[in-house]
This record gives sequence, C-alpha cells and structure tokens, in this order.
Amino acid sequence: MQITICGGGNAAHAAAGLLAAEGEHRVSVYLPFENEAQLWRDGTATQGGIRVVRPDGSVLGLPERISSDPAEVIPGSELVLLALPSFAHEPILKEIAPYLEDGTLIGALAARGCYDLCVRDILGSKTDRVTIFGLQTLPWACRIREYGQEVDLLGVKAQVEFATCPPEQANELASFLSSQLGLPLEPMGSFLSLTLAGTGQLIHPGVMYGLFKDWDGKLFEEAPLFYQGIDAQTADILQCLSDEIQYLRTCIEERYASIDLHTVRTLDEWLCMSYADDIEDTSSLQTYFVTNRSYAGLKVPMRKVEEGLLPDFSARYLSEDVPYALLATRGIAELAEVPTPTIDEVISWAQKRMNKEYLLDGKLVGRDVKSSRAPQRYGFRDLDTMIAVMFCQT
Ligand code: NAD
Repeated sequence: MQITICGGGNAAHAAAGLLAAEGEHRVSVYLPFENEAQLWRDGTATQGGIRVVRPDGSVLGLPERISSDPAEVIPGSELVLLALPSFAHEPILKEIAPYLEDGTLIGALAARGCYDLCVRDILGSKTDRVTIFGLQTLPWACRIREYGQEVDLLGVKAQVEFATCPPEQANELASFLSSQLGLPLEPMGSFLSLTLAGTGQLIHPGVMYGLFKDWDGKLFEEAPLFYQGIDAQTADILQCLSDEIQYLRTCIEERYASIDLHTVRTLDEWLCMSYADDIEDTSSLQTYFVTNRSYAGLKVPMRKVEEGLLPDFSARYLSEDVPYALLATRGIAELAEVPTPTIDEVISWAQKRMNKEYLLDGKLVGRDVKSSRAPQRYGFRDLDTMIAVMFCQT
C-alpha cells in the first residue's frame, strides 16, 4: 500500500518511523515547510531512517520519499494520515486536495471536533469518493529527540476510539488500522460521537478557567501544577461541563431514535476507563485528577518574562481545544437549542484571554467563528441537516 504521512512534528515522526519500519508499505512524507523537509531528508540520510525509540527497543523506518511538494507524494496514495495539530488540518487538506485519488482513506491522528465537516468543506463533491476517518486521540505519547532522525515513544494507548464516514466502513477499517498502527481501534459510531466525546475539550479549557478566572495578573516564580492544582471549585466546573454534554447527548438521542451516542461518556467514566490502575482515590472527581499518577507533576504552560512567569494563554490547552473542539460541541448544542451555561462561561473567559471573538450575546456569531470548527462555520443552521451530513446520509 502507498501511505503518505502529512506533517513534520512528533506524531509524524512516530507514524513515519513505525509504518516504514514494518517494510510492508511504501511510505512517503509530505511536509508543509521546505526547511522541515530538508531536515528530514538530511536526517534520514545520516541515520538510515527515522528511529523510533521504545522502552523495549527501537525500530528504524526509512520513508521512500520526503517532499514539501504535494504533487510529488500525494498522487497514488491509498492512505493519507494527517499527523498534525488540528489548526494545520485545513491548510494541509487544501494543499493535498487536488492530488487525492478516488478511494483514498484520509485520516487524522488526532481528529478533534467536526473533522469530517472540515474535510467535506474542502473536498466538496470529491468527499463521496473517499473515506474519511479520525482517531479520538494520538495512539502514542511521543516526543522528537532529534529532528528528522529520532523520536521517543513514551507510551502506547491501550486502545483508541475512532470514527469513519461512511460509518459502515468502521469495522473493516478498524481491523486494518489496528494492525497498521499496532493497537486496538474501536469504532465510535459516528463523528458526532467523536466530537461530543472528546474529553480534552472539557479538561484543558475547564482547568485553565478554574485556575485563572480570578487571576490578578501577578507573576509566578514557578509554573503551578495543572492537574494536581485542581481544587473543589475547578472540579465542580469540570463536572458541570461534563453534565452539559450528557444533557446534549440525551436530547439528541431522544430526538433521533436511531442515533446511539453511548460512547459519549461522563468525565468520571472516561477517567476510570483510561486510568483505572493509576488513580489512587476515587472518592470524588477532584481526587480522580489529583491522585492520578499519570498526571503527576504536569504543569501549566507558562511563558517567561523578565521578572518571572506568566500563564501562556496561547498554548494548545486553549488555542487547540477551544476553537477545534469545545466550539464544535457548543455549535452542535446551539443547533439543538440546548443551553450550555458553563460551556459558555468557559468560552467567554477563554476568548478574552485568546483575543478572539466566538460567542456574542450568547450566540456563535463572533468574528472568529469562521476560523473554528463550529458547524455554523460550515453553514449549518439546523440540526437535521448537520446530522444527515455527519451520518453520510446525503
Ligand atoms: P507538533 O506540534 O509536533 O506538530 C508540529 C508540526 O505540525 C510542524 O512540524 C509542522 O509540520 C506542522 N504544522 C504546524 N503548523 C502548521 C501549519 N500552520 N500549517 C501546516 N502544518 C503545520 O504536534 P504533535 O505532537 O505531532 O501532535 C499532533 C496532534 O496530536 C495534536 O493535535 C496533539 O494535540 C495530539 N497529541 C499529541 C500527543 C503527543 O504525545 N505528541 C499526545 C496526544 C495528542
């Protein structure tokens, strides 16, 4: 199979190294920036490929072609993997769209909210001739050790959920992708489930809001702990965010008898499922976080100024999780006419900190909605039409 990985960051290094090391496929890499492409070409020439360093040993995979020109790597690709942050999906999809062939599988590691709507918007009528899929999260925790040469695979998820459009392709694709990516992939039912179920959209903006809503601008000497800094009040905010999504889920399921959103789990269900062996005290949502060994020591993203440290509101906890995840869910709630007071509170605070405008007088009509993944940005004005598109019924 001809596989092209798009991107040049941590995920792209891991995907390219692992898939090329299997030796079964012809793997190419499309890098959006020529300086990155050159570093990859130089690095892989020196080292003989991308080395993926795992605790149980390392593997080396040499991509056949590395290019910043999509015309050199996309034609003929049967599987295209966007191993990219969500803000890069749109520009990259626009660049590769003219070269995509019928029958291609186009997947995102990781997808985040309304990824399918983003792909449809860019591919137009071509959408019906490809298969779109998206993983709920990246299968690996990974960090580049040496750019274009080596990446550390710090952990592999026990399993990852994913969605496809058309949904009927999920089972066949699950067994194929599980064998390629080296971990079990579980179908979620639809991109609607994937969008509502993402927990990063609750946890990351929710914790930032809890930690800094009353911040008076004072400097920090040290970065505060992110998860272990969750107090009872922040835990309450997270609970309210989770409850609002569950209420939205119930309203949609009541309105559409054929829609099953059981994979949209409550926050505590998801924490138990993901970190069963790592949580010491399960007596409250707060203790799920503060006694979770996987979260121990992780700090708030900060930026250095001359006299100390300030919280970095441009970091991905807001800049990725608000426009590409929480706004997608908020947009669906608006179409369903389901109120989301706590989600609105968090977005209203975050948009000020990010110098953006999404919510205006309680509606998603702010000037920056056009660069988000809210369904309104793609022209959806009613839930029925959006659901039909998300379930590939049009
Ligand atoms: P990354 O920051 O390493 O990716 C950066 C790369 O993205 C750049 O090198 C460039 O090739 C590309 N890029 C950046 N801006 C771009 C733009 N404007 N246009 C085109 N391309 C652009 O990100 P990553 O660590 O590889 O993560 C990929 C996704 O997986 C993210 O959504 C991240 O949140 C998620 N994720 C990552 C990890 C991890 O361990 N790395 C874990 C869980 C989830």
